[in-house]
Amino acid sequence: MENTNTRQTNWPQLRIGIGHDTHRLESGGPLRLGGVTIDFDRHLVGHSDADGLLHAVTDALLGAAALGDIGEFFPETDPANRGRDSAEMLSDVFQKVVDLGWSVVNVDCIVFAERPRLSGHKLAIRGRLAEILGLGIDQVGLKAKTGEGVGQVGHQESIEAQAVVLLVASR
Ligand code: MG
Repeated sequence: MENTNTRQTNWPQLRIGIGHDTHRLESGGPLRLGGVTIDFDRHLVGHSDADGLLHAVTDALLGAAALGDIGEFFPETDPANRGRDSAEMLSDVFQKVVDLGWSVVNVDCIVFAERPRLSGHKLAIRGRLAEILGLGIDQVGLKAKTGEGVGQVGHQESIEAQAVVLLVASR
């Protein structure tokens, strides 16, 4: 059979992954987002610590390496995952991806939150993501968008997050 693989093997082996997450907001702070604690009168609700930004980055990593999704790795049915630190989950997945021979080129994220305004927290969140992933802060992008007062984000019912990750083969 003819070899139809047209991949340019002299190019670096690259993989891109996307992640998205939504968590509900409820009364009572503080807010845990992007691995940092933010002084705010609402918090995100979920089975783990509900850090939707870290979940989106985790899913982007899993997607780039075609390993599945965060729910397969950390099922809600497992009591060990109740209230679990999402930084620990991201770190575990990152290590798995590294063990498979990948390095992270960069990460880019968007947080959709009507409140709190994240401008004063972006640097800390980028720093925390860089720390977990062993990256320089210049390899971690973060944008914050409001919901323009409409929809579940705009009505402060939820915070959403999106992330993309680019991997390059390290061997
Ligand atoms: Mg989640």
